[in-house]
Amino acid sequence: MEPLDLLVIGGGITGLGVARLAARNGLSIAVLERADLASGASSASSHMLHGGLRYLEHGRIGLVHEALRERAAVSRMAPGLAKPTRFLVPLYRGGRVPPWKLRLGLWLYDALATGSGFERHGWLGARAARALEPALEPRGLRGAGLYADAVMDDARLAVAVARDAARHGAQVHTWTEVTGARPATGGAVVLTARDRVEGGERSFVARAVVIAAGPWTDQVRALLARGLSPGRPEPAPLLRPSRGTHLVYPRLTEENGLLLIAGSDGRAFFVVPFAGRSLVGTTEVEVPSPPPPEAFRPTLEEVRYLSSELARALPAAAGQRPLAACAGVRPLLRGAQAVGRAPREHRVLADGPLVTVAGGKYTTFRVMARDALALAARRLGRGRWEPDDDDAPLPEPFETRVGATALAAHAAREEFARRLEDVMRRRTALWLEEDRGRAAAPAAAEAMARTLGWDESRTQDEIRSYDEALREEESLLHRALEAR
Ligand SMILES: Cc1cc2nc3c(=O)[nH]c(=O)nc-3n(C[C@H](O)[C@H](O)[C@H](O)COP(=O)(O)OP(=O)(O)OC[C@H]3O[C@@H](n4cnc5c(N)ncnc54)[C@H](O)[C@@H]3O)c2cc1C
Repeated sequence: MEPLDLLVIGGGITGLGVARLAARNGLSIAVLERADLASGASSASSHMLHGGLRYLEHGRIGLVHEALRERAAVSRMAPGLAKPTRFLVPLYRGGRVPPWKLRLGLWLYDALATGSGFERHGWLGARAARALEPALEPRGLRGAGLYADAVMDDARLAVAVARDAARHGAQVHTWTEVTGARPATGGAVVLTARDRVEGGERSFVARAVVIAAGPWTDQVRALLARGLSPGRPEPAPLLRPSRGTHLVYPRLTEENGLLLIAGSDGRAFFVVPFAGRSLVGTTEVEVPSPPPPEAFRPTLEEVRYLSSELARALPAAAGQRPLAACAGVRPLLRGAQAVGRAPREHRVLADGPLVTVAGGKYTTFRVMARDALALAARRLGRGRWEPDDDDAPLPEPFETRVGATALAAHAAREEFARRLEDVMRRRTALWLEEDRGRAAAPAAAEAMARTLGWDESRTQDEIRSYDEALREEESLLHRALEAR
């Protein structure tokens, strides 16, 4: 078997960014993803392409500057999937953040984003703030800062990056889990992988492997080390992951996002307008590395924390029920700080044919890809290689008004979807419908069945498994909110 130049483990935004850049620069490459594209952290984000105003509080000027540059570039590349959005930061008497500090932060944020084309910051009195967002708690309101960031569709943006990679020759294998590694002749690596939908095992050979496994990075590094250098001690863990939970509400604000300070612990959290809904989050709970399956589930405490902080900031929301609760695990780099202050920077490191890219943010995925490829290029004998990385537009997203049948067929044909949940949750916003997409699910499943050749029992299994996942989520919300 002729080796590929590169294999990428992980089809989140990091691995897909590497695949896109490598393919656009003529390397032969395949991505192996254990579940669906963006099914890990890359569909659990707060949906912001941002510099991170709050990271200025932690003095992370370099990171914020780089991320603001990327915010502008990625917004240009995917205008249908990332939209400039205004955020209000309401300030209250006796609040943790004094007005001078917010003014300084907003000024610095603009200065670091000079030339990006995003609206500059502003300042509103209490009355003007309430005119813009009437749901804000009026008592003690002093006014609000105003700034702009981009709100993106994280899962569909990752799919667009995958389509761009595939258009330039990358192979993209979803539901394909890497289960082992062994050395091959000439310093190459054989990865064995299991197809988790159809069953069966396949082998892939490449001259170098990029590990982009997000929160599972330590686990995948240990797996590969066991296969490639048996008897050697396992690599030291790189990550200190943390879970972040969001609640999804019917629309809570006019059209703006909100950056709020939690009354109970002074943490920043957001209300982000997305797909006609409001995402409210997030929490920050340290989990072990590698994270056990329960680390990906929101807890009752997190749901209660977010709903009560929301009710404090927007009293009218107190009676609203969230539609959904979802959690993801941030692949944060290990550091001495508490998780809330853990570095959001990334790190790349090489060990023989393996290159690991760990940490980082969604927003900076192109920087991570460049750094990972620079290391891989040395292994491929290209020395100091500068890959060409322009801001060429990503493939346009498919028109969402065409209905579930057409969307599902397109997702199965062109967007690497292999399960019904891939379509409902990560190719469309059907999971955010009032009925959570239950009415549309059979038509979507039938369309996938026709495209992928499923029989009736497989089609029914897919519908049942989507419904079971919804029930589990709804039961958690019920327990958190009813049984208080
Ligand atoms: C709650 C939360 C909020 C966030 N908000 C923002 C935000 O607003 N803006 C921002 O810029 N960033 C944000 N982030 C950070 C951002 O989402 C992540 O940094 C980014 O998505 C990580 O992408 P990744 O590809 O490295 O990891 P992932 O998306 O997790 O991808 C890793 C992939 O590896 C696969 N994998 C694991 N093991 C194997 C194996 N053995 N074989 C094959 N595949 C395997 C997994 O299935 C997974 O899909 C947030 C993160 C969280 C959790």
